[in-house]
Amino acid sequence: MKAKNMPRDEAQEESIQLNTSFDRILGQRGIKNHLYAALRANSVSHAYIISGEKGSGKLKLATAFAAAMLCEDHAERPECACGKCRMCIQVQNGTNPDLSVLNLGKDMSKKKTASISIDEVREQMLQSIHIRPYHGRAKVYIVPDAQNLTQQAQNAILKSIEEPPPYVRIMLLTDNTEKLLQTIRSRCVELSMKAVPDSLMRQFLMKEYRVPDYRTSAILSFAQGNEGRAREYAAGDAFLDKVRYVAKLLGAIRDLPSYEWVAEAAQLAADKAAVRDYLGLFTSWYRDLYLLKSGGDRKYLIYSEYGEKIQAESERVSYGYIQRSVSAVERAEEQLDRNVAPELVLDNLFAVFSGISEGIP
Ligand SMILES: [Zn+2]
Repeated sequence: MKAKNMPRDEAQEESIQLNTSFDRILGQRGIKNHLYAALRANSVSHAYIISGEKGSGKLKLATAFAAAMLCEDHAERPECACGKCRMCIQVQNGTNPDLSVLNLGKDMSKKKTASISIDEVREQMLQSIHIRPYHGRAKVYIVPDAQNLTQQAQNAILKSIEEPPPYVRIMLLTDNTEKLLQTIRSRCVELSMKAVPDSLMRQFLMKEYRVPDYRTSAILSFAQGNEGRAREYAAGDAFLDKVRYVAKLLGAIRDLPSYEWVAEAAQLAADKAAVRDYLGLFTSWYRDLYLLKSGGDRKYLIYSEYGEKIQAESERVSYGYIQRSVSAVERAEEQLDRNVAPELVLDNLFAVFSGISEGIP
């Protein structure tokens, strides 16, 4: 959304800073080369789907691409935005009239399960799509969370992709391409974000965050090549504290009296925002148990510092228990999506982890 369409206090509160530089994106060599070639040959496609999990940097990539198309000063590198001209500064501030990012400025986390309606698409995209660009040669629309577009909204966008005005560029960002209509997918160039190599991420964490070596390894194994997650984990101790907590709890939960894990559930549920982080950590724990139980190599553990504990635990539990636990986490995620009380969700989950409940088969 252009800032002028946003209530003033909201725009100020969020202080938007969009990325204009391909260099600030870790890895993604293949995608960058593809885009550089298209920019140099002036053969940029009308519509792209950029897919990748949350935190993989889809929006950063999309806005860098947009800036490269809109920049007025390509003297240094024809395929990259200069980051200094009027157009680039406006992209950074979210005020470029030739770039619209749908729903930018709203709390994206709250949009996770909410759908993007045809009205939002009309208002922020279709109403202006036939107006020629103000400055640049292109008019760029970025749709984050495109998996949340309703069927109607997708059909409306499809028409624009089928017969686009020559200057229009549309980028649909999604963590799930399956949710997009086949007719849309067949008309877009699909680019999928790749995991960032550990060596690159390690350098980055040491340089940018001055993370000491012993912490880097833990961060790398949990980030799994996801730049956003790595940044979040590196920014403070909170994440590694959670890791320690989960290793301690799950390593002992089958031996704890139920009143103890009920109390833990209550405590975790109090921090609503963190519950999903914990669910992710639970899944990784059971994934590691499975790895060692099936004879996998310890070097592939996510909980790399807890090899002994996981080995011992994997010998005590059955494959059935691991499978039930993983399914129970998936169900817990669905329940949170449906706004079931976190405490109840965790109670049910811990009952499965502790072995007293088989869960819902
Ligand atoms: Zn520029």
